[in-house]
Amino acid sequence: MESINQYWERVLDYMRQSDISQIAYEVYIKCMEPQGIEDGEVVVAVNTVFMKNNILELYGEKLLQALKHVFGIPLGLRVIAKENTAAVEESTAAMPIQGNGFPTAISDEEYSFDNFVVGSSNKFAHAAAQAVASKPAGLYNPLFIYGGSGLGKTHLLCAICKEIQRNNPHAHILYTKGETITNELIEAIQTGTTPEFRAKYRQVDVLLVDDIQFIAGKVSTQEEFFHTFDALHSGGKQIVLTSDRPPREIATLEERLQSRFVMGLLADIQPPDLETRVAIIRRKAQMLDLPIQDDVAEYIANQLKSNVRQLEGVVKRMRAQYLLNNEQPNLIAAQNAIRDIRNDNQPVPITVERIITEVARTMNVNPEDIRSNKQSAAISKARQVAAKVVRDITNLPMKAIGEEFGGRDHTTIVYAVQKVESQMEKDPTYKNMVNDIIKNIREN
Ligand code: ADP
Ligand code: MG
Repeated sequence: MESINQYWERVLDYMRQSDISQIAYEVYIKCMEPQGIEDGEVVVAVNTVFMKNNILELYGEKLLQALKHVFGIPLGLRVIAKENTAAVEESTAAMPIQGNGFPTAISDEEYSFDNFVVGSSNKFAHAAAQAVASKPAGLYNPLFIYGGSGLGKTHLLCAICKEIQRNNPHAHILYTKGETITNELIEAIQTGTTPEFRAKYRQVDVLLVDDIQFIAGKVSTQEEFFHTFDALHSGGKQIVLTSDRPPREIATLEERLQSRFVMGLLADIQPPDLETRVAIIRRKAQMLDLPIQDDVAEYIANQLKSNVRQLEGVVKRMRAQYLLNNEQPNLIAAQNAIRDIRNDNQPVPITVERIITEVARTMNVNPEDIRSNKQSAAISKARQVAAKVVRDITNLPMKAIGEEFGGRDHTTIVYAVQKVESQMEKDPTYKNMVNDIIKNIREN
């Protein structure tokens, strides 16, 4: 398996050999740093928003061709700007202010209300989203949309963003993610720029935060977000949040935020029923110009039940085979595509690294410190929790866990695990936090 960097080298080769000038290549193409592949999109980072916009505008098409050539299937391209604050300062009233990672993939038009297939599983969330989009800061504030992965939360959030933008080109709309807010705040604290951070969030008319659950457990982020929320809400600004769970089930979310989040409208999205799945497959096929028979659409809908992203993935694969190898989108093609998607979605082995990252994120310490010998109270506490979570999730023997944690003796690990377990018995909040970390890791 080639790494993303190796693939990217080939993308660069393709671009170099294309008709773009040497200068353009040096300026625009070489500076992109590949980050990985996510949801069918190659993610690359560049320094500035200006750069990002130029690249997409000037070379987007060509880059998509390059990706298709190198990876063998059509993939989207998402360019993220590392230095995001400049975007806010530069942005005029007519531009949505975008947080890092706004799905401004070139295929971004896909995430509209028009392209959202409504069925009984999502019609409530869809109606609520439309109501908010047509009349922001009306009855439903905040709107809190929750549901499992790949069920259309981000799609609806983007649709709201676009619709408000269309109706009101001067609205200041900020789309961001829970994780981005957390990272920005950490940076703001380190660089002494919290006033700017605050100003950025408080000047908006509409705040859309995707995957808000990521701020749970972060003391200062929650503190800041609480005040931002109140300032916007009492100023008559619209807030829309999404999460994988309802507020009450986000264990380490502060009580006062939980109660703020439920004071508008809670809308859940359930996995789609058969009929909706068939309709989604048809719609995606139509959007991609793929002629697909009813029996094939039904076959796919019967095979994949819980995740729209996978349905879409199957259609995209069938289309790639159709375009590249002229393979007709029949039942056999569907079977192959489903098999590929299933293989791709095998759970990633949960490594100790990932557990440490998740624990560090939740408990607000540095991941490297957990593996180190530092003995500050916060770090020791996080290290103990990490040991417990590793033990629960991986079932590694204590000795092996000790080795993962900077060569600690296995008795230290036994002690840490016991300590965490007894603390969990005594302290329900602590217990929720640990269970929440475990749940997060298992489910993501
Ligand atoms: P989530 O944010 O809930 O994990 P996304 O919004 O990213 O899920 O959706 C995953 C993919 O499935 C997206 O490409 C989206 O367009 C598509 N999708 C989800 N629900 C629907 C729907 N009801 N109609 C059309 N496409 C959908
Ligand atoms: Mg999402």
